[in-house]
Amino acid sequence: MTFLHKKSLGQHFLKDDQVIDMIIQSCQPLGEWVLEIGPGPLTLTKPLLQKVSKGVIVIEKDDRFQKSYELPGLFPIFADASSIRIKDIKKQFNIEHKIKIVSNLPYNIGTFLLLNWLKERDEIESMVLMFQKEVVNRIVATPGTVDYGRLSVLCGYLCECVWLFDVKTDAFSPPPKVESSVVKITPKPEKPCDVLKDLERVTQILFSKRRKMIRTSSLLLPSDIDSSKRPQDLTIEEILSITEKNLDH
Ligand code: SAH
Repeated sequence: MTFLHKKSLGQHFLKDDQVIDMIIQSCQPLGEWVLEIGPGPLTLTKPLLQKVSKGVIVIEKDDRFQKSYELPGLFPIFADASSIRIKDIKKQFNIEHKIKIVSNLPYNIGTFLLLNWLKERDEIESMVLMFQKEVVNRIVATPGTVDYGRLSVLCGYLCECVWLFDVKTDAFSPPPKVESSVVKITPKPEKPCDVLKDLERVTQILFSKRRKMIRTSSLLLPSDIDSSKRPQDLTIEEILSITEKNLDH
């Protein structure tokens, strides 16, 4: 099938079999169901279908694909993934256990989707996701590095985040402007205390002035934290203790 790529939908389709295979391997072991976002021409989906016992649920916004999705084991939902909750999908398909997500994400909404999924992390077993390389660098960044920020704190607090590999631009058609990377994000099984809303607010305040000493922020600071530190040098634990002092009741 050939048609124009919709730039507005971030359509860069994978064409490199080795990369496709590496993504599939990273999702193993695959169980009964997997959820894929933005399957496009089904390059990742078809090998996934061979490996799951019940099916692949896909959410795709571009309904030009409708006809080509009539395959056994494939359960398409034509919708905007940002408006769909994992909880509702699980209910619709009667899925009782946690689900795996895989996606070569549309770049313009990738981070937004990830932040939504963090809120629904209890429904998710693991996520194997492709983003621009720069976004993956931020997800896995450690304190004291330039990439360390809000995304690193939110993801690192709630999940195990592992960089898997980089993907060159010529693995896609049409090639995107920037390199991509694949990351595996596994929600931590022990439930961290539920301060996500406050943590989102506090990291927003802190990292909006990442070069300023934290004593210049409007936040209350615990006495055991050096107030001359800059946001990017705070560990996740320190940011949590600042959050606990600044809860929005
Ligand atoms: N997974 C395919 C396509 C990746 S391109 C591959 O690797 O080849 C990104 C895909 O996401 C496109 O098919 C695009 O139409 C779809 N998409 C873009 N925005 C979306 C949204 N908001 N919800 C669901 N799908 C979306």
